[in-house]
Amino acid sequence: MNELESRVYQALAKVVDPELRRPITDLGMVGVIAGSADSFEVTIKLTVSHCPQADYLENATMNALAEEFPKDTFQLLMSVMTAEELAELKLKLREGKEPKTNPFTEGTATKIFLIGSGKGGVGKSSITVNLAVQLAKQGYEVGVIDADIFGFSIPGQLGTTDRPTRLDDMILPPIAHGVKVISIGMFLPGNEPVAWRGPMLHKAVEQFLTEVYWGQLDYLLIDMPPGTGDVAISVGQLLPTAKTIVVTTPQQAAANVAERSGTAGLKTGQEIFGVIENMSYLIQPDGSKLELFGSGGGEKVVQSLSDRTGTTIPLLGKIPLSIALRSGSDKGNPVILDSPDDIAAKELAALVQILIASKLPSSARTLKVSLT
Ligand code: ADP
Repeated sequence: MNELESRVYQALAKVVDPELRRPITDLGMVGVIAGSADSFEVTIKLTVSHCPQADYLENATMNALAEEFPKDTFQLLMSVMTAEELAELKLKLREGKEPKTNPFTEGTATKIFLIGSGKGGVGKSSITVNLAVQLAKQGYEVGVIDADIFGFSIPGQLGTTDRPTRLDDMILPPIAHGVKVISIGMFLPGNEPVAWRGPMLHKAVEQFLTEVYWGQLDYLLIDMPPGTGDVAISVGQLLPTAKTIVVTTPQQAAANVAERSGTAGLKTGQEIFGVIENMSYLIQPDGSKLELFGSGGGEKVVQSLSDRTGTTIPLLGKIPLSIALRSGSDKGNPVILDSPDDIAAKELAALVQILIASKLPSSARTLKVSLT
C-alpha cells in the first residue's frame, strides 16, 4: 500500500456500513485508489446495485475524505462488487462457516429469549421491543425476530418500514433503534393477511435463523405467536438454549391460557425463565392503583408453572398500564427510550437488568471454561 492509499484507508476506516455495522475498509468496499495526493480518484464498491444505503455511504465517504484531504483534490466513483468479491465478503461475514448454518445451536454465546403468551394483545410485542432497544442502548448487540407470523407488529413498533437487503442467499436485516430486526411482514407486499401452514412457518423461522446475517449477537429476542402452535415447536427444535418468558395480564382467564403456552415450551425442552405480568394496574391522579383487569394473573401462572416444573419460576415484574407506552408503540418510538421516566418504562428497565444479570446458555459457559 503506498502512502496515499494508506491515508485514504485511514480516513475511510471511520465509515461504517449501516447494515453490516463494520468499517467499509474491512468489507472490501474500497476499490481502486488512483492518482497522487493532489488529484486522485477513489472507487467505493457497493454490495448490490440497489443497495438502499448507497446515498448514505456516498455522503459518509465524501465527508470522511474531506476531513483528510482538500475538497478539490479527490473524486468519488460509486460502483458495485463483482460476483467473486461479493462471495468473498459473504464468506468473511459467515466467518468461514458454510452458508445457511444455524449459528444459535448448542454452544452459542448469545442469550436467547422467547417471549410468548397464551393469547394476543397482552403486550408481548411491546415488551420485546422495549427490552431490545434498551439492551442495544446499553451497548449490546441485539437481534429481534418477529415470529408472530399472524400478528406481526414489531417493525411498526420499532418505527421501521425498511425491507431487508438480499445478498444472494444472505439476508441483511434492517436496523432500527440499534436493533437488527426481521419480520415476516417485511417479505409480504402491503398488509396482506397470512394464511400459512405449519411446514411453511417452520421454513420461515428456519430461514430467519440461518439466512439472516446476525453477526455476533449478545441477545436474540423472539416475539412468538400466541398459543401453543407450530412455530413454538419449530423454534424449540432450532434453538435448544432458548429460555421462555411468558407474558400474561392479571385476568384469571388470561392466566389460564398463558400457563398453557408456558407448558408448550416445556414439551420442547425449553427452560422457563420467568413470567411478566403486563397491564397490571393504572395509577390514578390521586396516586392510587386501579386494578383494571383484576389481579393475581401473574402469581397464578408462576405458581402453576413452578408446580409443573418442580422449580421456582420467578415473577420477573409487573408493568402498569401506560399511555406513553401505548403511544410510543404506535409511533415507533419505544417508551423506554422516549420517556424513560414513565412508570412502565422504569419497570421495563428493571426487566432489562434481570436479562443482563442472567447466565449465558450453559453450553456456552462450558465452552468458555474449556478455552481458558
Ligand atoms: P401482543 O404482542 O401481545 O399482541 P402488543 O404488544 O401488540 O400485544 O400490545 C397490544 C396493544 O396494547 C398495543 O396497542 C400496545 O401499545 C398496548 N399495550 C401493551 N402494553 C401496554 C401497557 N402496559 N399499557 C398500555 N398499553 C399497552
